[in-house]
Amino acid sequence: MKYTYFLVGLCCLPAFQSFSQSTNIPPEATEFYEPVPQKIAASAVNTKAPSDAIVLFDGNNLSAWENEKDGSKPKWKVEDGVLTVNPGTGSIKTKESFGDMQLHLEWRSPAEVKSEGQGRGNSGVYIMNKYEVQILDSYENDTYTNGQAASIYKQSPPLVNASVPPGEWNSYDIIFIAPRFDKNGALISPAKLTVFHNGALVQNNFKLRGPTVYTGIPNYTQHQEELPLHLQDHGNPVSFRNIWLRKLN
Ligand code: MG
Repeated sequence: MKYTYFLVGLCCLPAFQSFSQSTNIPPEATEFYEPVPQKIAASAVNTKAPSDAIVLFDGNNLSAWENEKDGSKPKWKVEDGVLTVNPGTGSIKTKESFGDMQLHLEWRSPAEVKSEGQGRGNSGVYIMNKYEVQILDSYENDTYTNGQAASIYKQSPPLVNASVPPGEWNSYDIIFIAPRFDKNGALISPAKLTVFHNGALVQNNFKLRGPTVYTGIPNYTQHQEELPLHLQDHGNPVSFRNIWLRKLN
């Protein structure tokens, strides 16, 4: 955790803020390895969408989604009620935009284990196309803790590691509060995330430091009140089912 304090301290320095805009910081500078979240046994909570939910994937088709880059029809596979990343075809995003939300989704790492660390069962759910809750096969797979499953990528490791073995279903239940900006674009309140992984609380109202970045320090810039939800193609055939959300307020 020591490193977190170091980074938070650095962010307060004006000189560092301009420095952090550049790509001079190697990605390793924002990856930390201790303490390692305790492993717990938990199983996916498979919930039926509440009657007021917007169902984004019910097992049938990708009509609510489009290619993240060019808006074309997504090329991910839908088979037997399961959606699977078609590696290399690009991330997908919802046609509709959302702000504050309760989100439920279930995901599964490939049963056949290939590679390690960040290369194993990597995907992610980007809320507002900006704030990533990491999806990774974190069952006996070490990586930086703020990049393992259920981390807020490069910002907050999960409180515990509730991952099930590859090939089994995980669930995320997420409560997201969007950041608020004043009319001049100044941040009034940061984005906040609460996450349950397989029913266990792993992120408790965490205040994000800004949108997810791979290198450098996150920084807020004003954005719309509602933006699409995005699922990441990170080159691994991660599967999804039962995706729904409820708009809050
Ligand atoms: Mg990811």
